[in-house]
Amino acid sequence: MSTIVREVRAMQEYSRAERRAGRSIAVVPTMGALHEGHCSLIRLAREHADRVVTSIFVNPTQFAPGEDLERYPRPFERDVERASSAGADAIFAPPVEELYPAGYATNVTVDGLTSVLEGAARPTHFRGVTTIVTKLLLCTLPDVAVFGQKDGQQVAVLRRMVADLNFPVRIVVGPTVREPDGLAMSSRNVYLSERERAEAPVLYRALRLGEEAIRNGERNAAAIQNVMRGIIAEHSRGRIDYCSIADSGSLSEQAELKRDSTVMISLAVRFGTTRLIDNVIVTVP
Ligand code: AMP
Repeated sequence: MSTIVREVRAMQEYSRAERRAGRSIAVVPTMGALHEGHCSLIRLAREHADRVVTSIFVNPTQFAPGEDLERYPRPFERDVERASSAGADAIFAPPVEELYPAGYATNVTVDGLTSVLEGAARPTHFRGVTTIVTKLLLCTLPDVAVFGQKDGQQVAVLRRMVADLNFPVRIVVGPTVREPDGLAMSSRNVYLSERERAEAPVLYRALRLGEEAIRNGERNAAAIQNVMRGIIAEHSRGRIDYCSIADSGSLSEQAELKRDSTVMISLAVRFGTTRLIDNVIVTVP
């Protein structure tokens, strides 16, 4: 069973002791409701460090008013079992007041990258993410931090932040884990109705169509986006928030794709009140 740590000071002491003993540490930050996507990151973390710490913390500052903070699933006992069997040595699960005590006043922001895509729909989201990831890195003192490609913009933002603030941490990114029908695993999939769940795999179908078009030589982003929008409209009632083809590092939209550049094709689609995101990374041949 993993050790459960509730306090910042105890977490830092755990990590310092491991480091003094010559062992390296990887952290896998999560909001719990662990599924196979999270577990794959914990297993990946084991390949990169001697000790794996998973954090389970539903971070209130990355939710806007009216989002799903209160109803976000919190199956803690099951999470502990899953994290333990995936190989987490410690679980850092502080109460909210431990990380945001009364009088808390500090935020970390990354400019530019955070105002597009998810940031356009959720203007305060990334400030919450960059602040909590900074805090989690300072609590767990890792050599390696592991994130999922599922949240592709988050990866780009956190890479920028870690480089800009000179965090002595290496970022490792794990591939998106999917259900057999292609739907990216997400703690929010439980919100989908039966019909929405049946339609939701269309996101990945559209992304693969986009990828295939690029591999077949299409260089015009608008043409690719038209095909993707078409299949989503044909096979679902999902409402498209964005269908983006952007440079994978800077996230700037690309009109004509350049050979050897790496782009992220990403989608946000609303099914009822549930907003799903997914992406693929493609190097333009
Ligand atoms: P969350 O608990 O949703 O904040 O996610 C915690 C970490 O797991 C983030 O780095 C996510 O990108 C990653 N993650 C979530 N879903 C998946 C998935 N289906 N495959 C791989 N990683 C994922």
